[in-house]
Amino acid sequence: MFESLSDRLTGALKDLRGKGRLSPADIDATCREIRLALLEADVALPVVRGFIARIKERAKGSEVSAALNPAQQVVKIVNEELVAILGGETRRLTLAKTPPTVIMLAGLQGAGKTTLAGKLAKWLRDQGHQPLLVACDLQRPGAVTQLQVVGERAGVPVFAPHPGTSIGGGENALGVTAADPIAVAEAGITEARAKQYDVVIVDTAGRLGIDAELMAQAAGIRDAVKPDETLFVLDAMIGQDAVSTAEAFRDGVGFTGVVLTKLDGDARGGAALSVRNVTGEPIMFASTGEKLEDFDVFHPDRMASRILG
Ligand code: GDP
Repeated sequence: MFESLSDRLTGALKDLRGKGRLSPADIDATCREIRLALLEADVALPVVRGFIARIKERAKGSEVSAALNPAQQVVKIVNEELVAILGGETRRLTLAKTPPTVIMLAGLQGAGKTTLAGKLAKWLRDQGHQPLLVACDLQRPGAVTQLQVVGERAGVPVFAPHPGTSIGGGENALGVTAADPIAVAEAGITEARAKQYDVVIVDTAGRLGIDAELMAQAAGIRDAVKPDETLFVLDAMIGQDAVSTAEAFRDGVGFTGVVLTKLDGDARGGAALSVRNVTGEPIMFASTGEKLEDFDVFHPDRMASRILG
């Protein structure tokens, strides 16, 4: 991930090396290269514009450091601006004053929500929490079973509607529940209170594309469980669509943080660079593979260093 962006930025900045002084023309030429590199990496145009404007202003301004030559100064400015558009500081999870803390996951089908639910549960457990996973993706066949498998691997229990029970919905002719995800979510919170789990992670249904029904269902779950955090799970490989998807979820459900998944893929990385800027919400976690361990808190500074190489 980011290899091409990283190469392009390094290339753009390399030409500055060895110059004793930078002329405005040098800075313009470098900014043109940076602009191209960002656009090629699928960073959203308004984000690119703002980024370049800040670099130019700072590079042409009076930021003079005796310790750095002009080229190093531009590299430093680019690095700082990358950290800034990635969110600056790492944002920690908000925990409820009175447990359980409720974390709801939202996102498109295939974004990696169920996998992430397991990763987050294990991460919380490793930190001494007692998490409970709640299976509210009742749309996708196999999603509940998938969460149960993931929960078992993570060593975290899963609250799910059992076939034949009738949480919030009637039994159909086969005796299998047509369960209502909102009722399951509420029952999951009740279970957590009764059994003293201190964090509840609610997995919700995703669709292949954004649709009104999906949004209404996720908003219904949100209203019922009043999450302390709603995490929007975003596949970093979806390129330009990341921005419109994030905006749709922000408007339809609302979220307090972003999880970027599939950062191990070879996508161009623009999603990561755009999403914070466009939605105003921080990237909180990063998922970098299919295994439970491929997961970490998102560090804007480390990501910026990775991009700049
Ligand atoms: P959901 O529909 O949002 O619940 O998505 P899933 O959790 O089922 O994930 C969809 C696919 O993406 C599965 O095959 C996962 O193994 C895979 N996946 C999830 N996260 C990552 C990741 O960070 N990297 C890679 N390479 N694959 C992932």
